[in-house]
Amino acid sequence: MSAVPVTIGTRMPPPAVSADAPASGALLDTHGRVHRDLRISLTDRCSLRCTYCMPEQGNEWLAKTSILTLDEIERVARIAAAAGVTTFRLTGGEPLLRTDIVEIVRRLARIEGPEGHPEIAMTTNGIRLPEVLPDLIDAGLSRVNISLDTVQRERFRELTRRDRLDDVLAGIAAVQASPLRPLKINAVAMRGVNDDELVDLVEFAVAHDAQMRFIEQMPLDAGHTWDRASMVTRDEILTALGERWSLAPVPGRGGAPAERWMLDGGEHTVGVIASVTAPFCGDCDRLRLTADGQLRNCLFSTTEYDLLPILRADAPGSLSERGETKRDTDLDAMLRSCVRGKLPGHAINDPSFLQPARGMNAIGG
Ligand code: SAM
Ligand code: SF4
Repeated sequence: MSAVPVTIGTRMPPPAVSADAPASGALLDTHGRVHRDLRISLTDRCSLRCTYCMPEQGNEWLAKTSILTLDEIERVARIAAAAGVTTFRLTGGEPLLRTDIVEIVRRLARIEGPEGHPEIAMTTNGIRLPEVLPDLIDAGLSRVNISLDTVQRERFRELTRRDRLDDVLAGIAAVQASPLRPLKINAVAMRGVNDDELVDLVEFAVAHDAQMRFIEQMPLDAGHTWDRASMVTRDEILTALGERWSLAPVPGRGGAPAERWMLDGGEHTVGVIASVTAPFCGDCDRLRLTADGQLRNCLFSTTEYDLLPILRADAPGSLSERGETKRDTDLDAMLRSCVRGKLPGHAINDPSFLQPARGMNAIGG
């Protein structure tokens, strides 16, 4: 019997997965894409309330009891690494809000797959970095992306509904002073909000030895207020930057979401993640694990594969060794089923497109 996906909004009984499903080979989908990148959302909670991601109030939080524990995260990550995943990206919500974040990084960094230890990266708003960065590096963190949509204080407060620009800047300074490179700074470009600041943001990034990356706003806000007309497109971003620098494409993008350009032929680059106007689904190698144990094969998927019934079938330690092996086999089968179920593309541009029920903070960006 094959694994049973869960449609968002409904809770299905524990999935029936075969204990003897083949557990070998790469995570290859039916469109020829091999999956090597697992985005692990650690929480849906956050210290900010960015308008394009979360509502100001009234968010429906995930139940605390459904949030994956350190052991559960490690277990899924180990199965994924054995199946060829080579990068774990920790995200959320705000991943640094997890009090066990250093231990999570330490455990994941110790995992060994067929190609060695996976790389551990993190996407964060940066607010707790000054406090925890040395321990994270010691635990095995190798790369950080920090989100910063504006360097103007009042604008930051309006956009994130919190007056914490100084804390984010301190987080960026902490990474700049550390050996972690490349440091990437992500901004969602928004019309009438920060589209007059694109050049300033690139200059800020260059001054902080970071790569600036602009993201097209996607229909993933918890309030479902996304509107195509107000979206700033890749072409508009390039036009604005082209007035200040000559932009030469950097070849060799591979499966990376960002297209990159060299600024004035020099060492600095800028990236654009054009998920809406220039989707890169054909090269997508990413899977997502939500903080409450749902596997997703796409940001925009409306189907989830529930790992909780497998992870929690019996209290940890109460199963025989054979039982634990079966648990791992079932997790592997679910992972493969999720990959096989992946569609060729996200269809945002199709009139029948349906925004996922979860906001970005509950999926993991
Ligand atoms: N809290 C961390 C942060 O902000 O970096 C990690 C989680 S956040 C959901 C991950 C990334 O998703 C951020 O770079 C954020 O800007 C981006 N993001 C959130 N909502 C988005 C949307 N509707 N469209 C495009 N990007 C979005
Ligand atoms: Fe929090 Fe990141 Fe979402 Fe902003 S984008 S509200 S920092 S999870």
